[in-house]
Parts: sequence; structure tokens; C-alpha cells
Amino acid sequence: MDSTEFRKRGMEMVEYICNYLETLNERRVTPSVEPGYLRHLLPTEAPQEPEDWDQIMRDVEDKIMPGVTHWQHPRFHAYFPAGNSFPSILGDMLGDGIGCIGFSWAASPACTELETIVLDWLGKAIGLPDHFLALKEGSTGGGVIQTSASECVLVTMLAARAQALKRLKAQHPFVEEGHLLSKLMAYCSKEAHSCVEKAAMICFVKLRILEPDDDASLRGQTIYEAMEEDELQGLVPFFVSTTLGTTGSCAFDNLPEIGKQLQRFPGVWLHVDAAYAGNSFICPELKPLLKGIEYADSFNTNPNKWLLTNFDCSTLWVRDRIRLTSALVVDPLYLKHGYSDAAIDYRHWGVPLSRRFRSLKLWFVLRSYGISGLQHYIRHHIKLAKRFEELVLKDKRFEICNQVKLGLVCFRLKGSDKLNEKLLSIINESGKLHMVPASVGDRYIIRFCAVAQNATAEDIDYAWDIIVDFANELLEKEQHDELSEIMNRKKQDTLAQKRSFFVRMVSDPKIYNPAINKAGTPKLSMELPSPVVSRGSAPIIRTQSSVDHNSWISWPLAFLFNSNNEEKGSNVSLRFRHLDTNVRPSSSRRNSGAGSSPSPENELDYVNVQQQQQMEQRSPRRSPMAVRKASSTRDNLN
Ligand code: PLP
Repeated sequence: MDSTEFRKRGMEMVEYICNYLETLNERRVTPSVEPGYLRHLLPTEAPQEPEDWDQIMRDVEDKIMPGVTHWQHPRFHAYFPAGNSFPSILGDMLGDGIGCIGFSWAASPACTELETIVLDWLGKAIGLPDHFLALKEGSTGGGVIQTSASECVLVTMLAARAQALKRLKAQHPFVEEGHLLSKLMAYCSKEAHSCVEKAAMICFVKLRILEPDDDASLRGQTIYEAMEEDELQGLVPFFVSTTLGTTGSCAFDNLPEIGKQLQRFPGVWLHVDAAYAGNSFICPELKPLLKGIEYADSFNTNPNKWLLTNFDCSTLWVRDRIRLTSALVVDPLYLKHGYSDAAIDYRHWGVPLSRRFRSLKLWFVLRSYGISGLQHYIRHHIKLAKRFEELVLKDKRFEICNQVKLGLVCFRLKGSDKLNEKLLSIINESGKLHMVPASVGDRYIIRFCAVAQNATAEDIDYAWDIIVDFANELLEKEQHDELSEIMNRKKQDTLAQKRSFFVRMVSDPKIYNPAINKAGTPKLSMELPSPVVSRGSAPIIRTQSSVDHNSWISWPLAFLFNSNNEEKGSNVSLRFRHLDTNVRPSSSRRNSGAGSSPSPENELDYVNVQQQQQMEQRSPRRSPMAVRKASSTRDNLN
């Protein structure tokens, strides 16, 4: 394709995109296809010869579009918004046209400098403290664009881990890094996004997942108690990930409380994940939701969720950029340049080396809407959510399940989880509306999010009408089914009674005794057999629903489940990764004198402590951790 054809095709593409967005409501929100549908429509090999552009575009409409979920559709109310706007699309188009790879300042100075400036703009608009801004006099912090919120959490956890290991290594120079790593503990709420658990898996650290309060908000006292308990076990708290605007119900962890409690644990990195909600803080009336940010070491929000900016654009600010980059710096000669000391090299701020010119689209969005335009957009979505909440509240068959502060409403039919599952399933199957569920406070709820950029009050009313229609249909059917079930049961009961009476009449003359007859048949116990299984020294496994513990630990290595945790007095369940199963170490090992048969972890401890003791006998410095570790391991082995 030469530039003459590109001009022609480019205009056609703009036309196609405009048509697509303007006529979206004529399409189903979700596709009606089975997995593998596309494989049957496309050849198995790439074409050997060039193909005609018109044919490619025909295939887009005939083969690709039928499998697309339309996230910009006015009836799409699932997840959080996928940012999209014409200025952003044009910004990305220009970035693609320039096609630079801005891994260092020298690799494309404008790419780096615009990112720094735009992140300062947005940081100021959100109301972040000055120490997060790169260009503020005396600031040590700064902002960077990452691909996703998951990546923001990962890189901050990596930085916190590096910082903690450095500190521990300075205190215990003769203890192996791997052993120090095994002592690190990160924390988050049960309501935190799963990306925190994924980050812990990648960082190879334990993560303690804590129970929030009834409003799905993690409290300072909960964090404090967990950390204190862990420190007593010889563990080292190093990272806390809090959430402002949880994925499930847009709840807010109590950042001021958590921040204050963390003052008692110097060196613990406090991260704030505000992937969706953070964008709304550009509105002055919503800034109180950011309270406590002064305690944070890092903060992320996704303009590609709720700031009219297309994926990918996840913005991360850190209080101290050196602490971030020192965890990620690798500096081969071919990437060095003459201005390394004077300029930012964003390759040190994240996982990938190569980086797109992503700041262009954010710059286009900020300039063409202005902060006031973006505030208007956010407020409009909140107004729509409030309207939906009012509609739900008016219908007494439904209930609201979250505090509607922003654009997300969580609701459900008063009734069982199963009933709500059925409701959501028939709505989504219809293709008329799309929502997703969440489990909040162990209840199944339906999430309704204001998503489309230009959604109107009529769109909200229309969506509610669809929900009510399906709810009417479902409740009628349920009532009918329930009635026929009762009738059937009654019929069967009478038949069974007659049969049983006949049998007993024949076989048991006592049945004639009216007193016995009155007593009836004993009720079947509804108690299920205990889900607790114990085999020798194997761990006790409970299904998650049966666990009465308030927190659990996500553990990086399965073999560590055999550790002697209970003997160390821990009351926290461990969780197999990827399995909905909780584990508590068996106490039977202690009963069988298992202290003398060390688990791999104990063996490691034993070897390390021996090494450590030998080393430290030679060294004049004897650390408190080594003393505690040595005595506790001795206790374990005795
Ligand atoms: N954190 C929160 C609070 C979220 O709501 C989400 C996604 O919705 C994420 C993290 C993950 O975002 P990403 O897809 O950008 O990794």
C-alpha cells in the first residue's frame, strides 16, 4: 500500500469507524457464536499472494464483526468502561504513524518528555501530592504510563520487594536471599483485584488476603493485626495494596486508617490501586475519596477505563522514582546514552524495553476535552448510575448491594443466588443487554455500570425495562415451577405414605398403635458430612465455603504447604493457587512427633541457620533475626 492508497483507505476506515459507532445499537451487544467459530470461516494458512483490500474489509464485516462484543454499545453495562473517543483514536493513529520506540530519552526525546509532562498534568488534576510529580521542584517522584493496572501493581511490588530484600540483606548479610524472600509477606483485601495475587505469584512472595468490613472496605486495624501477627511468626511485611474503587462493587478501602497504621511498620510500601475510580478524582467534589493519599508510595489509575482514552494507558505515579527503578535497572552498553543522568529513561520504570508513544493520545484527550469536559463526562456517568439506582429502589422485588458513589450499581433480586444467576443468564443470552456478576460479601450480585460515552437517561430506562421484563418472566416461571413442584411432591408423598403404610401394615403390627403413628418418621439430618479430610500428616483441606477464617495466605509454592505452620501458632488458612480450596496444616504431625521429620522448608531453615550460625560465630555482628530464627528452629527440631 503506497501513501496514495493509504489516503483513500484511511478515509474509508474513518468512515467505517464512524458508521460502526453510530449504528452500534442495531447490533446485538454480545455475539452469538460458539468457541472456534472463526476457525471455520478463515483459511488455515496465511495467503501466499497479496489480497484485495475491499475483500479484506468485506471479511471484517462478515466474519470478524459477528464475533465481536461491542464494548461501546449503549446496552453494554459490564465490567468498567473501555475508554474510547475520537481524539484518543487519532492520537493513537499518529503514534502509530510516527512509529517510534521510546525506551530511553535518546531513543525519542519527545516521546519521553511528553509522557512526563502529561503525567504531571493528570497527577495535578487528580490532586496527587506534589511528591508524585516529576517536574515539581525538589520532588523525587514521577509518573509513567504502563500497559495495565496489573502491570502497575506488579512493578510496585517488585520495587517493594527489592527494597525489603536490600534492607534485610543489610541486617543479615550472611543469610541467603532466597531465604529472606521466603519471609516476605504482602497484604491486600479479599476485594482487591486478582492482579495483586498474580503479582505475588510472579514476585514469588506470600500474600495475605484479608477480610474487609461489611462495606467491603479494608480497615486499618485489620491490617495492623495481621502484620503484627506475622511479625511474631518471623515474617516480614513489605507491601500493602489497597483499592479505591474495587472491581466487584466500587468500594473504597479506608486509606487514612491503613496509612496511619503503616506508620508503625516503616519500610512497608503502600500502593493504591484506583484503576477505575481514580479518574473521577479530577472532580473537586470527589477528591475526598482520595483521602489518605499522603501516606501512599504509589498510585495507579487507568485513563483507558474512565477518561475517554483508548487501551492501553494505565498511569502510575511513585513517590520515589529511584526506589522504583533500582528494582528494574539493567544497563547494557548499547542502551546507554550521553544524557542518562539528566533525563528519564522509561525503560527502567517497567517490564518491557520497547514502548509506544502512548502519551500522545492522553495529551490529545486532555487538550481537546479540557479538564472541564472530562469532569462533565464523569459526572454524567454518575448521574446515570444514580438514576438506575433509583429505578431499582422503586421496585421492592430488588435490592441495591453497594454504596453508589460513582458509575457502578450493584443490585440483585431479593432471593437466592441461583435466582439471580438465572436472571443474569437469560438477560445476557438475549443479547439485548450485557452485565456481569460479582461475589461481594459472599453474595452473588449483578453489576450495572454506566459505560457508553454518550449514554442517555433513555438508555438507562430502556436497560431497566429489559431487566424488569426478564425478571417478570423469570419470577412467573419460578412461581409456576415451585407450585408444580409442591403439587408433585405432595402427590409423591401421598403415594409413598400409602405404600409405606401398606408395607408396615403387613410387616409391623406396631403401626396400629396411634401414638407411634403420630410421632411420624424422623427428620433426615440436613447436616453435610464434614469437608475436613485428614490423612496422616497430609494437610487438612477444606472447601473455601466451609472455612470460617477471616483471612488466608496465597502461597507461592505447593510444597510449602507441608510446613509446620500450625506448630508456629498460625491460625491462617493457606490457599492452593488456582484451586478453590483452603488448606490448614495438620496438627497430627505434631502428635506423631513430626518435629523430628522436617519439611523441605524446615530443612532449608536448618541448613541456613547452621550456615548462618557458623558465619556469625565468625562475624562480630549477631542480628536479632538470626538469634530468633536459630532458637525457633531449634524449638522446631526438638
Ligand atoms: N484493579 C482494579 C481495581 C480493576 O478494577 C481492574 C480491572 O478492572 C484491574 C486492577 C486490572 O486492570 P488491567 O486490566 O488494566 O490490568
